[in-house]
Amino acid sequence: MPTLFISDIHLCAERPGTTRLFLDFLRGRAADARALYILGDLFEYWIGDEAVEQDEFRAVIAALRALTAGVPVHVMHGNRDFLMGARFEQATGCRLLEDPTRIDLYGTPALLLHGDSLCTDDTEYMAIRAMVRDPAWQQAVLAKSARERDALFRRYRELSKAATAAKRPEIMDANQDAIVAAMKQHGVRHLIHGHTHRPGDHHFRLDGAPARRLVLGDWYEQGSVLYCDASNWMLESLSLANPEMKRART
Ligand code: MN
Repeated sequence: MPTLFISDIHLCAERPGTTRLFLDFLRGRAADARALYILGDLFEYWIGDEAVEQDEFRAVIAALRALTAGVPVHVMHGNRDFLMGARFEQATGCRLLEDPTRIDLYGTPALLLHGDSLCTDDTEYMAIRAMVRDPAWQQAVLAKSARERDALFRRYRELSKAATAAKRPEIMDANQDAIVAAMKQHGVRHLIHGHTHRPGDHHFRLDGAPARRLVLGDWYEQGSVLYCDASNWMLESLSLANPEMKRART
C-alpha cells in the first residue's frame, strides 16, 4: 500500500472545484493508502479551531473524520493554517506534525517540511514567518474575537498577494544552501515539501552521493500527489475537470 503526500490545497469557499476534487481524493485514492501526509496549507486560512464548525469546511472535516477511521492522516502547519490545534485534531482524527519531521519511508529516511523555512532569500517573508510562529503572537491573536481574526487573516492574505506579486520569482523559491543544510542536519538524502507551488523532482549530489528533493504542487488548477511505495516515488497530478488520476510527471 502506498503512502501519499499532498500540500497547498488552500481550501476555501472561493474554489469549490478544489474542494470537490479534494473530497473525491479523500474518499478514493487516500482511502486505499497506508498513510496520508498533508504538508501544510490545507486551508487557505484558519482563524482558529472554531473553523471546524464553519459551513465552508463542514464536508472536509467530516471526510477527514471518515478517512482517519482507517488511514492515519498527518497534518503539518503551513503559513496559512498555523493556528490549527487540538480541536482540529479531535474533530478530524488527524494528527498534527512538527515542521520539520523525519520519517522512515519504506526504509528510506525522509525529511518532511512545509517548505517556507527553505525560502531564505525572501528575508521579508522570513521576518513575517518568525512573527506568526511566535507563541506569544499566536496567543495575542487567539485572544481576539473570531470576527476580528477573520478580518485580520483576510487582510494578511491581500498583503501577502501584493508582496508576492512585487517580488522576483527566484527569491521565493527554496534556497539550495538551506536545502543542503536541512538535509545534513537531519541526516537524510530525501526531502519532501510544498509551499513554493513549483512541483518538481530534483536530483542532485550531496557530499558526493545522490540526493533527491520532491516538491508538491498546489491544488489551484489541479491536484498534486506524491505517491510512494517500497520501490517507486512518483509525482502525479489530478485533473480538476475529471478527477480520474492522470499519471503526469512534472
Ligand atoms: Mn505555504
